[in-house]
Amino acid sequence: MSVSFHLCQPGRGASCGACCGLYNFRDHSRATLTERLAAQTDAVRPLPKKPEAYQAAARALLEARTPPLFPAVRVCPLLGFLDAERTQVGCCLGHPKVTGGVDLRDCGVYRADLCETFTCPSFTWLSDAQARLVQAACADWYLYGLVITDVEFVRGCLRLLEWELAGPVDPQALLARSEALEAVRQLFALKETAPDRATHAAVFGRFTQDTEGEPVSRTLDYAALGARAAPEDEVVLCLGYVPTDLETLTRARELVRTHVRAVALTLGA
Ligand code: SF4
Ligand code: SF4
Repeated sequence: MSVSFHLCQPGRGASCGACCGLYNFRDHSRATLTERLAAQTDAVRPLPKKPEAYQAAARALLEARTPPLFPAVRVCPLLGFLDAERTQVGCCLGHPKVTGGVDLRDCGVYRADLCETFTCPSFTWLSDAQARLVQAACADWYLYGLVITDVEFVRGCLRLLEWELAGPVDPQALLARSEALEAVRQLFALKETAPDRATHAAVFGRFTQDTEGEPVSRTLDYAALGARAAPEDEVVLCLGYVPTDLETLTRARELVRTHVRAVALTLGA
């Protein structure tokens, strides 16, 4: 399985800057990230296209920055909005296509050759059809980046849908029906809209910190919760829930189940 198109800037409203550290903050809400990207864009875009100017701006932005959620994962200050309407994020304010010719990505937190060639695991682990579904359902930079980089979430949602339908689901079939695509959008948008998540906890979706500040996969403590594993739990974790009692876990599972059923209903289930 692998994706045959470029996931980072696939067009139709979707764009991503996740591997440049976009979401690596406790507060990774749309409003806060929009503000940060706008500030970085305003600080960097008008600069003379010289390494010294970009390096100085990158240093100043890094010094003024909120501490990242995972200290071991770098956050690049050259990430910004690429278009005048501020709807497209990604690689990046130092890219030759954005500067008008000179490659200034070495002034960011990685070497330019790494920026040029890096592909995240989603390129390998998502199928073409799954990635197309995410692109169509999440046609904005904030949601697209959150979903396209979470393979377990995408697969988990589709697996729940298959259980609901008691049979295989072809993502192409979801793409072909506007009401199904809208229901998928609502399901994937839980990444942004799901209520009562533990915003105080040092978690990002399925991940928490290890002792070195690296992201590490987490699980639910079923014994402490007095619960048994349920099919929705993978998605519940990917949504960033940190349930401390059975009631919270049950509500989160129900939320996921309701959204999956809504997709199934559009397919005649
Ligand atoms: S996280 Fe993946 S899809 Fe997003 S910009 Fe990086 S390589 Fe591209
Ligand atoms: S310089 Fe590299 S790490 Fe920084 S935003 Fe650009 S592509 Fe991402």
